[in-house]
Amino acid sequence: MIKVDKVLVSDELVTENFICDLEKCKGACCVEGESGAPLEDKELTELNKIYPKVKPYLTEEGKRAIDEQGLYVKDADDEWVTPLMWPGGPCAYTVFENGIALCGIEKAWRDGKFKFQKPISCHLYPIRIEKMRAGDALNYHRWEVCNPACKLGKRKKVRVYEFLKSALIRKYGKIWFNKLDRAAGEFIESMKDKN
Ligand code: SF4
Repeated sequence: MIKVDKVLVSDELVTENFICDLEKCKGACCVEGESGAPLEDKELTELNKIYPKVKPYLTEEGKRAIDEQGLYVKDADDEWVTPLMWPGGPCAYTVFENGIALCGIEKAWRDGKFKFQKPISCHLYPIRIEKMRAGDALNYHRWEVCNPACKLGKRKKVRVYEFLKSALIRKYGKIWFNKLDRAAGEFIESMKDKN
């Protein structure tokens, strides 16, 4: 683990490579899985505020799921998550373009409808935040649907934390990211010394 201020960062975010390869994975993270995307408490208010502008972008199934279940639901661990279109189905906020799943919230954001890009858990994926008493712990969540991203990241030599620079800056700020970048450089050097 690398400690940057109060945040613990898994070594794997520095040693592993990653670049989303949408042509290959088809945006599977929006579609696969047993429950929706984790939501922070403040994001519930945000969803209430922006939904009227998001709604026109969504699929009929997505709108119906939200009408029936609400803008957010509790998962098996009693945490707030986005609803699914149907059990085991895509996130209700998913839209499809040329066979690729995308976030409907982000699509509206790209059109300048509001300032909230998408839930931070989606923005940070494959990083998952674990809330600890002393601060956050950032872990690398491995999922076979992202195998093409690992291959592309390796080919282009982009580390997980580098690929997620904008999401990490959104969550922890630029100063924190720069500290992480320095700590990551030192960590890599120390690994070379050991080998
Ligand atoms: S996180 Fe994984 S599944 Fe989602 S777009 Fe990236 S590579 Fe594809």
